[in-house]
Amino acid sequence: MLTRCPECRHKVSDSAKSCPSCGFSFDPQDLERYKRQLERLREHKKEVNRKSAKLQLIWLLIFVVFIAVATWVTS
Ligand SMILES: [Zn+2]
Repeated sequence: MLTRCPECRHKVSDSAKSCPSCGFSFDPQDLERYKRQLERLREHKKEVNRKSAKLQLIWLLIFVVFIAVATWVTS
């Protein structure tokens, strides 16, 4: 049976202990650690997205206020 290396996407025999292409270890413990790392990375990205969404909202507010003031000044 062939499986894919999660690191480099290389096709590897699932009986192999590590990826011959990049050396990624298929040891269950290492895989578990790798999964946890990915999970943490995903959480971090989510957090960053949440922050940037808030920032965009603030910019939108500033923009709206600016337009409102500009309209008020010119009329
Ligand atoms: Zn690999």
